[in-house]
Amino acid sequence: MEIFDQIISTFSDFGNPKKRVFFGYLFLSVLIALVWLIVAKRMSLSKAFWKIFDKDIFFSKSSMADYKIFVINRIFTFFISPLLLTQVAIATAIYFALHSQSFIPAGVFSNVNIVLVIGLFTFTMFVVDDFSKYLVHRWMHRFPILWAIHKVHHSAETLTPVTVYRVHPLEGVLYSFRGVFAQGTTISIFFFLFGNVVDLYTIVGVNILVFVFHVTGSNLRHSHIDIRYWPWLERILISPAQHQLHHSVAEEHFDKNFGAALAIWDWLFGSLHLSETHKELEFGLDARERSSGYNLKTLYFQPLLDIRKILIRRIRKFSSAVTSWFTSDSLNMH
Ligand SMILES: [Zn+2]
Ligand SMILES: [Zn+2]
Repeated sequence: MEIFDQIISTFSDFGNPKKRVFFGYLFLSVLIALVWLIVAKRMSLSKAFWKIFDKDIFFSKSSMADYKIFVINRIFTFFISPLLLTQVAIATAIYFALHSQSFIPAGVFSNVNIVLVIGLFTFTMFVVDDFSKYLVHRWMHRFPILWAIHKVHHSAETLTPVTVYRVHPLEGVLYSFRGVFAQGTTISIFFFLFGNVVDLYTIVGVNILVFVFHVTGSNLRHSHIDIRYWPWLERILISPAQHQLHHSVAEEHFDKNFGAALAIWDWLFGSLHLSETHKELEFGLDARERSSGYNLKTLYFQPLLDIRKILIRRIRKFSSAVTSWFTSDSLNMH
């Protein structure tokens, strides 16, 4: 019985509409992919079907590693879950801090129409959360210590919806902190300004905008189905093809399309790359960084070794700078 419970809890994300891999969203993604391949790529139904369920992709060494990481990382979610409690602490702390200032009185907008308040809160939660994802993702590529962790996700050489779980546990912790902080801040500010009428518009318990993101094929970002949008839309929303480009080994695609759902951040901060036609992308890390992307031991422990190496290098650099500063200082004194 216990083993049965364990299996159910391991795969519970597939039955949870709050998760991207919820079976309903996966089913819709398959439908969207079929329509795309039949209408835009002019494939027959059977050809399109076999293109989607390509066994070379779903059973590649890289994808097999994704499935194993998915199962192993479930253990770490037990450690991450308590982090979510810190959201209440953050929200409460900010809420009281806001009360202690006198520039803006509490409940200043409490007379605003409730429909408007809920609409604004639903929209703001989505936008703030999405922006924080963009920011943290950008840092992951910019700072060597964070890149050592994020490299695990980019070592995938084939993309399937499960690749979204191909992350080092430390990235999971960082992303949880991000979510807790972004949401905790938004919640407290809204409660302070609008009073306790603040609520979310939801469908199946999910923010309606997140729901729309998932039912329109969020799973296809990690797939080989290169659905593109019109250029004007790819400046507002990240298309599956744009995230696939983020995974490309080609140098011209480095540090592009950090966005999760919205492309406006990439557009605003100069990291946007529109999708391209007729280009077969190769996914993974470039030759200099490629190690064994299928070996689980490497995937879990290499980032820790890399971080240790970076820290030792930094400490050495710092201590030699201090030494030379003292030496030159003492020389100047003579
Ligand atoms: Zn990335
Ligand atoms: Zn990705």
